Amino acid sequence: MTASGVRVRIAPSPTGEPHVGTAYIALFNYLFAKKHGGEFILRIEDTDATRSTPEFETKVLDALKWCGLEWSEGPDVGGPYGPYRQSDRKDMYQPYAQQLLDKGHAFRCFCTPERLTEMREAQRSSGKPPKYDGLCLKYSAEEVSAKMASGESSVIRMKIPTEGSCDFTDGVYGDVSIPWDSVDMQVLIKGDGMPTYHMANVIDDHLMKITHVARGEEWLSSVPKHILLYRYFEWDEPVFMHLSLMRNADKSKLSKRKNPTSISYYSALGYIPEALMNFLGLFFVQIAEGEELLTIADLVEKFDPENLSKAGAIFDIQKLDWLNGRWIREKMSEEEFRDRVLTWAMENDRLKAGLGLSQSRISKLGELPELMGFLLKSDLNLDPSAFAKIKSPPEEILEILNTVQPDLEKILEWNVEAIEAELRAIADRMGKKLKVIVAPLFVAVSGSSRSLPLFDSMAILGRSVVRQRLKLAAQAVAALVGSGK
Ligand code: GLU
Repeated sequence: MTASGVRVRIAPSPTGEPHVGTAYIALFNYLFAKKHGGEFILRIEDTDATRSTPEFETKVLDALKWCGLEWSEGPDVGGPYGPYRQSDRKDMYQPYAQQLLDKGHAFRCFCTPERLTEMREAQRSSGKPPKYDGLCLKYSAEEVSAKMASGESSVIRMKIPTEGSCDFTDGVYGDVSIPWDSVDMQVLIKGDGMPTYHMANVIDDHLMKITHVARGEEWLSSVPKHILLYRYFEWDEPVFMHLSLMRNADKSKLSKRKNPTSISYYSALGYIPEALMNFLGLFFVQIAEGEELLTIADLVEKFDPENLSKAGAIFDIQKLDWLNGRWIREKMSEEEFRDRVLTWAMENDRLKAGLGLSQSRISKLGELPELMGFLLKSDLNLDPSAFAKIKSPPEEILEILNTVQPDLEKILEWNVEAIEAELRAIADRMGKKLKVIVAPLFVAVSGSSRSLPLFDSMAILGRSVVRQRLKLAAQAVAALVGSGK
């Protein structure tokens, strides 16, 4: 335990590409820990077994390490309150659920998914927010035992007060009051015995001695459930701090459909971690004009959690570009710059794999930039005329691009075999030959119809870069369709 006793955590769920929003919350927690001489901890929240994957867990860890945010306890480094991955802790939650059942704070619910769907539909159609109606509260202990003995499956739900409101002070929002009748009787333990996020999160925060919970504002409405669990267990609750979400310039939620949101996209494009942290850190500090260029140590110094702005954090790419450029030009020696460029080019084996694919396709080394440059480019500056050589008309190209884009999201492990299999399946579904599908993708991904093998190139570029290139290509082709060319 550190002198201050402050312990904070970042608790990502490994269900997708590591998001810049995760880096933003992680940086806040990191600065908070450093400012107080406390500990910054990483916990993997993988209770959603259907969506969590080891690939995404590795990516989250790598992305946060790339950001330079080192944790003192976590699944990779261990620590006194481990394990730090919830799926490795799954047997720890059941006794707590039993405690709640024994004390009458929770109950078994035998409602079938069909009944719950019907109930929610009825609530929606009468204009009420969907919420569990408490049907199973009526069963006596004997009835519950009989149902259990007969093998009926059940979940465990928490009881919620029927009157009054949950009042608490949020470290960012200030005083908050949420009426209990708007809070659902949350499932704590699912039918398969796994805890839900709410249950595991509260128990782990307590067992890991977390003092301050700083996370995105989307969790603010869950605080009553969490506070109630702390009260049921008679545990001290942490201080809650809910940070405004990062938004696009038009105030819409930052989502990959609008702008790339994954950290690996920005690292692949050659943004440097110091600049990304600098950019995100500016949301947490007050500075005068001209003081924008800040290292993490500067950010720790200027960080004042008492004086946080509630103004939304806008993900302004131009500002990020500006900071990144300044870091490259003003903060690096010539030698550092050289090292950085080489490290970046070698990252994810991009250069190695690209050279491997190129060797059999060139007669002079000087042809390499033309052939494989697209693997390193941040922007292809795709000209719609690049699609002119393809036999399909623009309408068909657009249909292909728009079908492939969402379908590629279904790939769990992004690798050559999976990409090929998915593209073959898409071709089948669309009733088209594979080569018809592949031709526009070649151009979208590499900017040229003559380049390296497509599936390998897509694997090397990574999911987030491919996603963005397909999106830009679809925009370019849509302009062709619109202009009737
Ligand atoms: N696993 C949650 C998430 O990924 C963590 C929320 C929290 O910090 O409590 O958003």
